[in-house]
Formats: sequence, C-alpha cells, structure tokens
Amino acid sequence: MKRLPGVSTFTNSVQLKFAVTFLVLIAGLMVMLNSYPTIVSRDLVFASKQTSLQNQAGVMSSALSTPDELTSDTVLEVMGLLDLRSLTRVVVTDENARILYDTAQLDPGVGRYALFSEISRALKGKIVCYSVYDGKAFMTSEAMPIRNGGLTVGAVYLYEYDAAQAELITNIQTNLRNITLILGIISIILMFIFSRALTLRITELARATKIVSEGNYEYRIKISGSDELSDLGSEFNNLTQRLKDTEELRRRFVSDASHELKTPLASIRLLSDSIVNSENMDIVTMREFVTDIGNEAERLQRTTEKLLSLSKMDSGIGFMREKIDLKHVAEKTLHLLSPLAKENRLTLSAELQRGCCIYGNEDLIYRIIFNLAENGIKYNMPGGQVKILLFREEKSVVLVVEDTGIGIPEEDVPHIFSRFYRVDKARSSDAGGSGLGLSIVYDAVMLHNGSICFEKRENGGSRFIVKFPAYLCSDEEKTV
Ligand code: ADP
Repeated sequence: MKRLPGVSTFTNSVQLKFAVTFLVLIAGLMVMLNSYPTIVSRDLVFASKQTSLQNQAGVMSSALSTPDELTSDTVLEVMGLLDLRSLTRVVVTDENARILYDTAQLDPGVGRYALFSEISRALKGKIVCYSVYDGKAFMTSEAMPIRNGGLTVGAVYLYEYDAAQAELITNIQTNLRNITLILGIISIILMFIFSRALTLRITELARATKIVSEGNYEYRIKISGSDELSDLGSEFNNLTQRLKDTEELRRRFVSDASHELKTPLASIRLLSDSIVNSENMDIVTMREFVTDIGNEAERLQRTTEKLLSLSKMDSGIGFMREKIDLKHVAEKTLHLLSPLAKENRLTLSAELQRGCCIYGNEDLIYRIIFNLAENGIKYNMPGGQVKILLFREEKSVVLVVEDTGIGIPEEDVPHIFSRFYRVDKARSSDAGGSGLGLSIVYDAVMLHNGSICFEKRENGGSRFIVKFPAYLCSDEEKTV
C-alpha cells in the first residue's frame, strides 16, 4: 500500500508506543509477581525458624542453669531429657567456650574450644540469631548464654539446616514463573491484536482527514461499534458534511455574485459600444444611454457594497458594540426613506417606544431597519402604507416592520433570507434589488443574538418581526 504523506510509519506509530508501554507494564508485573511472593514466604520462614530456635535455646539455657558447675556429664544428662530431633547440631560450652556437648555427626568438638562468633558473643551475654537462604536450604543458627545467679556460665548454640522448606519455596517459584510466562504470552498476543485494531481505526481516521483536506467532501468513514473512536468517526462525518454544505454555498455564492455583477457590466458594455459605433446618434438618445450607464454603474456599486458587508459579517470581526437606542436609529431611517415613500405615494409612519436599548453595532442595526422598510416601500402600491413599530417585551426589544404591499407567496417564504433570492425577479431588478437585502438583515440579526420571522398580514402585505435581547449593563463587557 502506498504510504500517504503525513501518515506515520511503524517506528513512530501509536501502535509501537502503545506496545512498548504495555510490554514495560507486563514485564514489571511479571517481575513483581515472581519476586514478591517468594520474598514474603522466605521472610515468613525466617521469622518462624528464628522464633522456634530461640524458644528451644531458651528451654535449653534454663534447663542447664543449675547451681552445679557445668560438666560434660551434667550437660549430657540434661540434654538426654530434651527432644533434639529437629536440630542439625547442638553445641553447649562452658564460660571459656570449651565444648562440653556437641551433636555433630562428623568430628564432634567435645573438649575443644568453640571458635564460632555466635558463641563468643553469647558468652558476652548476648542472644545471637542468623538466618541464611542459599536457594537450596535455610540455615539458621541461634546462640544464647546460660546464666546462673547473674553470671554467664556457658552458652548454647543451635544450628538447623532445612532443605525441605527451601524445596517448597523453589517449587512455588517455578510454578509462578510458568504461570507468569503463560500469562505474559497471552497478554502480548492480546495486546498486539487490540493495539492493531485500535491503530487501524486511528489510521483510517487520519487517512480520511487527509482525503477530505484534499477536497473530496464525499468521503465518509464507516462507523462500527459505539466507543469513543466511533463517536469521533461520526463527528468527523458530520464535520465533512458541514464542509460540503459550506463549500456548495460558497460556490453558489461566487457564481451568483459573478452573475449579478456580469449583468450590469454587459449592459454598460452594450450601451457604450452603441455610443461608440453609431456615428449619427442624436444628443437626446446619447444622454439616455449615458443615464442608463450611470444607473447600471450605481446598481453595480450597490451590489458590491452589499457583497462586501455580507463578507464582513461572515468573518464576524470588526464590529464595535455599544449601547444603542433603537428609537434614534429608526427615526434616522424614517428621515432618510421619507423622500422615497413620497415618490411612491406611500405613507411611512412609526410608533416608537422609549427605552428600547440594545447592545450592538449601530451601522448593522441601521441596515436592518433600512432594508426592511425600503422593501416595504419597494414592494408596495401607490396609496399603500409602511409602518415601523418599536416596543419592549419582557427581556426583549421588538422591532416590527409591516406594509400593505404585494406580500410574499407561501412557497417563497422559506427562501427569502437566502442570498440572491428574489421572488419576482423583474420587479426586484426594476427596484434596483439584488436579492441580498434580507440576507444582510438576517446575518445582522444573528450577529446580535436576535431572531427574525416573517408573517403574512391579515389584510394583505408583509410583516417582519425582529427580536433583540434588551440592553443589560453586563453586556458592555462583550464584543462582536
Ligand atoms: P432585493 O434586493 O431583491 O429586494 P431582498 O433580499 O431584500 O432582495 O428581498 C428578497 C426578495 O423578497 C425580494 O426580491 C422580494 O421579492 C421579496 N420581498 C422582500 N421584502 C418584501 C416585502 N416587504 N414585500 C414583498 N416582497 C418582499
């Protein structure tokens, strides 16, 4: 398979990192499982052996603690009464470390002097105990002084060599090693299968991202299971769908915009060509043509201005916010639109409540009111009316722009806020419209966290209702 650029190789893959981490963990666990029980059981054996030898040495020491002088015979007599079968060697010395009694099989040292450090320390009044495990046997020694009337008169030395317990521990160790080995192999196989399955899905996500980033917005990931990776996959598909929609919108917008700019430009070209090519054009016709060129240029200017403001709103930045009194903005709009209303023989009126303040951008608010009211005038009949209402409703400021005009057919209502959408293309063109006015209104309302809806007026005509969140002092901290 050809490796996609940006897709990781095995040496720097998540799978390798995952596998190494897992292996270190498994190895650590195996070492712990092998050593901990052995250490604990060895310590337990040490402790039990030391206690047992200490008790036995204690019994011997007190049995030998008689007022009579310690001799080989007296010691032999006392020792004959004790059960010494569990001990490998028992040595009893007098206060000078001379051996009085020794159970060693080979070369018992009776009569000689004991040179064990344990005995010399016991003769100094100390109780000494040593335990050693060499892997084959437990070797434990215990030395204790024999006291008589506060004086040390001799020492008892016990030694035990236990291979049986050591064998038991070795068996446990071997079993543990075998168990951890089997468990380790199973875990490594499982880890490999699991990490492979996991990284395959991650690789698929990375591959899909690359494909989509190259412009193939049709590509979708197949979702299986219901874990976090499946969620990520379905989020990826949603995102790709949104990208596709946005891309389609962008393409349509660019083609609509170029079409919108192309039409007046073609008219300008045609008109200017006609002037240039006709030799005997009379001054009246020429003036007519130049006026038309002027009108088309004006239309072009209006369209480009609208496109610019839409793209500025798309980016969502660069709009300063402040406290705005909508009444003032509505009055300004009324003042500006009055000549147009008069020209169309319409009544433009308003009912504006005081205290309708919002936190927003004055220029955008002006465009909202202006575009809605201008449409009310444009799509109306002589003698008709356009009315602007402004009032507070709980925590909202409500702006209503209604007219007695031609109205909007039911089937067109869902599209009126779309860019370049015009219900009656001929009428809109005549009125200098480009199908961008209501999109600007919609975007501007959204930028103010408001809402807009259209209603058919009872006696014909249209009604646009815009709601904005009313001004709160804390709004000052926000920016658009
Ligand atoms: P335009 O620049 O063409 O007026 P708009 O986006 O402002 O574009 O409006 C979109 C379309 O909706 C218009 O072409 C028009 O057909 C319709 N329209 C908008 N406002 C009204 C209204 N008040 N009365 C009737 N039709 C309207």
